[in-house]
Amino acid sequence: MNKINYQKELDKITGQIGENLFEEQKPHLFLHACCAPCSSYVLEYLTRYFHITLFYYNPNITPETEYQKRIHELQRFIREAGYEEKGQVVFMEGDYDPTCFFDMAKGMEDLPERSIRCYHCYELRMREAAKKATELHADYFTTTLSISPHKNAQWINEIGERLAEEYGVRHLPSDFKKKGGYLRSIALSEEYHLYRQDYCGCVFSKKAAENMKHND
Ligand code: SF4
Repeated sequence: MNKINYQKELDKITGQIGENLFEEQKPHLFLHACCAPCSSYVLEYLTRYFHITLFYYNPNITPETEYQKRIHELQRFIREAGYEEKGQVVFMEGDYDPTCFFDMAKGMEDLPERSIRCYHCYELRMREAAKKATELHADYFTTTLSISPHKNAQWINEIGERLAEEYGVRHLPSDFKKKGGYLRSIALSEEYHLYRQDYCGCVFSKKAAENMKHND
């Protein structure tokens, strides 16, 4: 089966919206965010077209100190980059309940990153975003996750399309790593001195990263 280029799909939508709208004329995007480095480029890119609610919902992250570190870094970034002041981005935190992640991951603890456990982890977080986007009557929802070269953009978009049908809210297609997006996120992370974590988020990815360091 041919892979869909989701960046091109996004280009079609942003092309229709156009760049010169006043903030109050922009469509409302409900954007799930995993961390500051991934959000840096995505916000720089999408605030040109959308008014954004940035939704930090990541019950997968262990330990809680790491969860707090990532959220504080994200809040610092949107403040220092001026998005809040300009009224372009509103920040929202979801519930932090790691039990729902561990229940989801039962029986898949030993699987590696990019396995089916990750598919369900994307869905867990995107489902909450779709649900909240519907409650807020947002025009679109999506996630920053596709910027990472470690994440499967085809899965992310398939999940997004399915949830869009289920919740009755449009999914914004994405493959943010394309068009130099990933490199730009690294440059912005350096510019704002953002904390860049060395594991994806869950305890299983933390252990795998530690084992890799140990074996180096
Ligand atoms: S490796 Fe990352 S995407 Fe996969 S289950 Fe863990 S936190 Fe979720």
